[in-house]
Amino acid sequence: MEDVLQGLNVAQYEAVTTTEGMVRVIAGAGSGKTRALSRRFAYLVNDIGILPGNILCVTFTNKSANEMRQRIHLLTGDNDTGYINTFHGFCVSVLQEDSYAVQYPKSFLVLDHADIDAMLKIIYEERGLTLRNMTFSKARDMIEMRKLTKEPLYYLDLIQMSLEELQEKYRTAVETNDIIFYGYLYQQKKCFGLDYDDLIIFTLYIFEQNEEIREKWQKRLEYIMIDEFQDIDKLQYRLMEVLCGYHKNLFIVGDPDQTIYTWRGADVKFLLDFDKHFPSVKTIMMMENYRSTPEILSVANSLIAKNKNRMQKDLLPTLPGGKPVFCHHGKTAEEEAVWMAKKIEELHEDGVPYRDITILYRAHYLTRTVEEVFLKEKIPYTIYSGIQFFGRMEIKDALSYLRMLAYKDDLSFARVANVPKRNLGERRMAFLREYAEQNQCSLYDALQKNLDHEMMKGTKAASFVSLIENLASNAAERPVSEVLSEILDLSGYEKMLRTEGSQERLDNLAELKQSVYEYETTCGEEATLEHYLTHVALFTNNDVESGKDQVRMMTVHSAKGLEFPYVFLCGMNEGIFPSRKTNTKQAMEEERRLAFVAVTRAKKGLFLSEAEGRNFDGSMRYPSRFLLDIDEKYLTHTEPLAKDRYAEARRYIDGKEKYLEEQEKGASFISGDRIQHPIFGKGTILEVDMERGAYLIRFDKMQTFRSISIRAKLEKIDF
Ligand code: ATP
Ligand code: MG
Repeated sequence: MEDVLQGLNVAQYEAVTTTEGMVRVIAGAGSGKTRALSRRFAYLVNDIGILPGNILCVTFTNKSANEMRQRIHLLTGDNDTGYINTFHGFCVSVLQEDSYAVQYPKSFLVLDHADIDAMLKIIYEERGLTLRNMTFSKARDMIEMRKLTKEPLYYLDLIQMSLEELQEKYRTAVETNDIIFYGYLYQQKKCFGLDYDDLIIFTLYIFEQNEEIREKWQKRLEYIMIDEFQDIDKLQYRLMEVLCGYHKNLFIVGDPDQTIYTWRGADVKFLLDFDKHFPSVKTIMMMENYRSTPEILSVANSLIAKNKNRMQKDLLPTLPGGKPVFCHHGKTAEEEAVWMAKKIEELHEDGVPYRDITILYRAHYLTRTVEEVFLKEKIPYTIYSGIQFFGRMEIKDALSYLRMLAYKDDLSFARVANVPKRNLGERRMAFLREYAEQNQCSLYDALQKNLDHEMMKGTKAASFVSLIENLASNAAERPVSEVLSEILDLSGYEKMLRTEGSQERLDNLAELKQSVYEYETTCGEEATLEHYLTHVALFTNNDVESGKDQVRMMTVHSAKGLEFPYVFLCGMNEGIFPSRKTNTKQAMEEERRLAFVAVTRAKKGLFLSEAEGRNFDGSMRYPSRFLLDIDEKYLTHTEPLAKDRYAEARRYIDGKEKYLEEQEKGASFISGDRIQHPIFGKGTILEVDMERGAYLIRFDKMQTFRSISIRAKLEKIDF
């Protein structure tokens, strides 16, 4: 076994060995925060003798949770790795054990975006709504807002109302918002579905209502550690407060310069003001950077220094000098991509494997041009993104088949009953739906009870039922990977894809099987079908690690916490990065932090690029202010700088900044603030729209959002 204290600097050593009480690490990118965190876990287990099951370690993504689990496994040699998970993943564990406290079965469903959309579709059809009334993504936002801005936080409706009561609310609702909201709650309750927000809200609710359960978890979690604390939000913070309430051993690490989720409710104040809430906290700083070459760090320091609202700190290099940071200007986006392809081939010829190279960008649409060029140049690549993999039709279908075995829920049934075709089309589905409604049973039950009904003549309903019954009877005892392979085969699903010639979809299924297999090897005994299904809904594409030698492409957001030998950051133009939606100074600083996160991912080489062209709104594309922020001496331009273009860009940027400043003079609130309006009463600021000089506010008394001028008389309130 490795010595867990080896290879740590003084600050890291202190962070690892100060196990009791409250400890906060504030340190820059690449300074070894995550390394200290995982070593601390191993130290607790190996040297102090704490059982892994008594440690909670919260990471920001599933991918980092997986990496952490593997690291801990190597360091402790123990198969039990305790609770190493995201907040959402941890809540799934709590709910699997204690959801009975809110009258939910253990086999609740975790709903992802596609599931929610499927429910919305039913509601829209039933109530004659169209996307013109509200798009699905707006509807999802509305539902989220309505749940989260309510105080007390829990939308008790879903927890306390019976299915009949919810149905009644839905039936009698008149306003679009109410129809959608209650329709959704009704659909959710029908299948015991919980979306991501619910996972946190339900867990909090249980903890705050049920003393016995709360104490059980408080006592169980002797040590709590949280990574990426700068991006914690209010609910997660509350959860943390509850969880550490008994042993009070809490270790948090974060970097204020890497706060990039304020748009989703994260608040860096929780990190910076931690000592006000917990005066006993010991704070440790780490200065040295072990990740990047001095050249890359100079660029990073020079960039982030332009943020006004920050603690002054520089990343200090420990590695020897490397190659310069290149900056390329393309006449067109295509030319930019061609340059990247050329550089990548050069690296590859020098012996750098493709998988050591990562392309980062602000938004997904930027990959199109790059992909076209890479296809032409035959550079293998893979795109990582939230929905790409697990949102794909074949993956959802495969998972729905698995869910049929475990839950037999309506959502999965509607998805796979007629895929491949079993002659269970719209008419027969409507029949089943009506039967289910009248008899208060599931669609699957309805089918089972009506196998002999004449409506089902000429269908393959009976063989579908026997397939599900046969496999379901022993699915619990077998490895998930085996069950998955079998159901894809016996259901005829793979055969259908083969007949269609959908090789890509078959490849994706193979990838899914591989990921299930990996899941089994990391989770050990816990790897049951139900456990897999509740957790898989939290997975994103980033969690599927492909072993192939391919260049990786991902958004900067999903690269958080990761590191790569070579990084290409493309599309460095005004209107792209910073995004054209950036319309407050605060938002601009967040964009800059995002750019900082991007450049600090690189270990050995960093390549920046931008191209001329036009934005969606027809405006000229200037080089990004973030390029201009970087001191010239740290960048090596691939061609003589077009001085005029830079001067023009400078004028454009200065003008825009001045405009924001002028606008902002009147604004005194930020999103998330609670305010009091003289007429409308209490509300929550959702957005500050500087272009229009208005706040978007959700007033407690109203169901709709309202725009209110920043000059209106608003007063800040506490709750
Ligand atoms: P981020 O803010 O980006 O999440 P971090 O502070 O979590 O960064 P780590 O990912 O833990 O940083 O470490 C960055 C790199 O430096 C890793 O490759 C890690 O192995 C290495 N490293 C950390 N500490 C040391 C050390 N004391 N000696 C040698 N290498 C180290
Ligand atoms: Mg980290």
